[in-house]
Amino acid sequence: MIDIAQGPVTAVTGAGVSAESGVPIFRGEEGLWRDYRPEELATLGAFQRNPRLVWEWYNWRRELVSECRPNAAHETLARMEKTLRDFTLITQNVDGFHQAAGSENVLEVHGNIWRTRCTACDYLTEDHRVPLADLPPHCPECGALLRPDVVWFGEPLPRDVLDTAWAAAAGCRVMLVIGTSAVVHPAASLPTVALKNDAQLVEINPAETPLSAHAHEVIRDPAAEALPGWWEAHRPGQARATA
Ligand code: NAD
Ligand code: ZN
Repeated sequence: MIDIAQGPVTAVTGAGVSAESGVPIFRGEEGLWRDYRPEELATLGAFQRNPRLVWEWYNWRRELVSECRPNAAHETLARMEKTLRDFTLITQNVDGFHQAAGSENVLEVHGNIWRTRCTACDYLTEDHRVPLADLPPHCPECGALLRPDVVWFGEPLPRDVLDTAWAAAAGCRVMLVIGTSAVVHPAASLPTVALKNDAQLVEINPAETPLSAHAHEVIRDPAAEALPGWWEAHRPGQARATA
């Protein structure tokens, strides 16, 4: 039996945690947009070749997410943060649903589609407008192209966020891996780091992944269905409020 009272708990979430909110995962037919695969659009090369096209895709994704709401899995993770003394949430998602559900400290290793930054200067902004007018947008400070503040395929992850995530993976006693295919590195290595440090691994994913064979508990159900019950069964009897 997994015992979350043993020490730090870290959760890693991927696109699957938002699937029941109505946000499609990348793999499979639903991830396509105008017949493009995400790998053809989410790269610096694609942006440099056709910034308007890439921005239209992000505009569509922003619209899609704006019509969806966080689900019971996001809400449970927010509750875990408030209850557990030492809890870290790492997400590969860019939709902002963890924060919308009430999580306060979210390590977003792949950025966030609601933030936009300049390709030339330090300008960074967050706005939730949908749709965006005049694509591609330009920097109000220097006039250069703006881009979504997300990590594209082939780009490095934000160093400070990754370092903190790595430390949380190495230091946890229990790691929950929820709705990630565990193939996009380096984020996919976080469970391996936890395993090397003898953490217990819990996987929640309707499909098998390369991690499944190494997990101490595998729950083959959708996250919004499975996580609330898992938490009810495992949460400490005495809820501890954090400061
Ligand atoms: P992925 O699309 O590669 O894999 C999603 C995983 O979720 C699969 O293993 C699938 O079996 C599982 N899954 C599907 N429905 C589920 C459910 N209801 N509950 C639990 N698991 C479910 O996604 P990934 O591994 O996160 O990596 C792809 C990249 O795409 C990530 O970097 C992520 O940033 C990005 N992405 C983000 C969003 C989002 O922000 N919502 C959506 C799509 C892709
Ligand atoms: Zn600028």
